[in-house]
Amino acid sequence: MKLRASMLMTKQIPILAKVDVLVVGAGSAGLCAALAARRAGVDRVMLVERYGFLGGTSTQMLDTFYGFFTPGDHPRKVVGGLPDLVVDRLDAVGAVFLRPNTYGAGTGVNYNPERLKWVWDGLTQEHGVRVLLHSILVEVECSDSGNPEAAIFWGKAGFFKIRAKRFIDTSGDADFCHLAGIAYEKAGELEPAQTLTTTFRMSNVDLDTYERAGGKQMLKEKMAMAVETGQFPLPRKAGSIHRMNAEGCISTVAVRVAGMDPLDPEQMTGAEREGRRQAFLYEDFLRVAVPGFERSNIIGLSHQIGVRETRRVNGAYRLTRDDCLSVARFEDCVLLCGAPIEDHREGVQGQAETAWAYVPGGDAYDVPYRCLVPENEEIVWVAGRCFSATHDAHASCRSMGQTMSMGQVVGIAAALSLKQGCGATEIDVPDLQNRLRQLGAVLEVPDAPAHTGAEDWRKNRGEVR
Ligand SMILES: Cc1cc2nc3c(=O)[nH]c(=O)nc-3n(C[C@H](O)[C@H](O)[C@H](O)COP(=O)(O)OP(=O)(O)OC[C@H]3O[C@@H](n4cnc5c(N)ncnc54)[C@H](O)[C@@H]3O)c2cc1C
Repeated sequence: MKLRASMLMTKQIPILAKVDVLVVGAGSAGLCAALAARRAGVDRVMLVERYGFLGGTSTQMLDTFYGFFTPGDHPRKVVGGLPDLVVDRLDAVGAVFLRPNTYGAGTGVNYNPERLKWVWDGLTQEHGVRVLLHSILVEVECSDSGNPEAAIFWGKAGFFKIRAKRFIDTSGDADFCHLAGIAYEKAGELEPAQTLTTTFRMSNVDLDTYERAGGKQMLKEKMAMAVETGQFPLPRKAGSIHRMNAEGCISTVAVRVAGMDPLDPEQMTGAEREGRRQAFLYEDFLRVAVPGFERSNIIGLSHQIGVRETRRVNGAYRLTRDDCLSVARFEDCVLLCGAPIEDHREGVQGQAETAWAYVPGGDAYDVPYRCLVPENEEIVWVAGRCFSATHDAHASCRSMGQTMSMGQVVGIAAALSLKQGCGATEIDVPDLQNRLRQLGAVLEVPDAPAHTGAEDWRKNRGEVR
């Protein structure tokens, strides 16, 4: 029996829709969940998002999918299915290149994020997913026995309710689980939470001049010098800059804001302001100190400051650091991850700013289905940033190759549970695994090495069925 009491008179709130599967939050995980549920035959799938566009972090602040390829000298492609379909659509309009493995996380799939918004629009329309934007989840209505029955949203016209048979929480912050009284760990409770980052994009960069002057190594030295001399008090000496999918443009992961609680609006106000302040400090530094940037400008800040972790739901299983570093195998494996533990920290008292730990042998570990099912729940799944993992395991298994893969798992799982009339823990897992394989998902590390040249996407892609 859950303890959380509702703050709203929910019974009086009008019902907007009754659906089979309700997906809350349209980031990379939620989108793949909704698409997979429709492909698996669910009639009424609704996807609700608080902002005015789809994609979550994938379009709010980033431009590179990591996690498709294992890092190291012998990369393997360990992600497939709907994530491939997304990249194929970007590739079809020339909005993709493979980005070399320069920052340790393996080859990235670089894309044009504005195009990606358009791709997500197209895929959801084609698949018949009912999408609702500009609607924020504010409450969950539960039965007397504690089972979720409806989700309450707020839009400009007021409150409305959506009743559903199955619920998928892909809000990143586990808002649905929080409101439904489902248990979780909040980042920062046990280990320091990962830092926040406002990403920014610059145009008019002369990348040839930048590379001729020493590129990444030169930038690192200049950043260290700027901090040491005090000329530009940058927050990090190891910020990253990379070429975008647009001529003369770069994108960054350089800003670092630590010690703020992303679930507290007052602290988030401070974090957003601090993120913008740091971004323009970097602009000053780059224009003055870095060859190729003399005539450059910031042309875009991320839609909001990037949040790496907040609530991690207590699942039927919790993925651990040991699972990642011992290359764990599970019978209920539903996706693979070969990405390193990449922990962005405050970097105080001589600590490295980013702590790395690699999966041995360039291998990939199994992620079990149970990490996507909240403890003691039968009609709720989680996927993406709020899945069940410890701080360290989450720092490995949070790239978008994996969050999209988690999405396709829970979409199919919800469909199976409806079809078989059973709960999340009772579905036939081998059937789920077969359906994932049929879709093109990768559940065993392939022997064949991946192709990682800039134009090599098509050589790697699997068939999406
Ligand atoms: C700064 C930063 C850099 C990163 N760099 C990379 C990288 O280069 N490559 C990579 O692969 N991964 C990277 N990651 C990790 C990765 O991007 C995320 O883990 C992943 O995108 C999370 O996807 P998600 O779908 O779980 O959540 P999100 O993308 O956060 O999606 C959640 C969605 O839910 C919506 N939402 C939230 N609350 C509500 C609510 N109450 N009501 C309605 N809607 C709601 C949000 O608006 C959002 O659209 C980075 C993360 C950060 C923060």
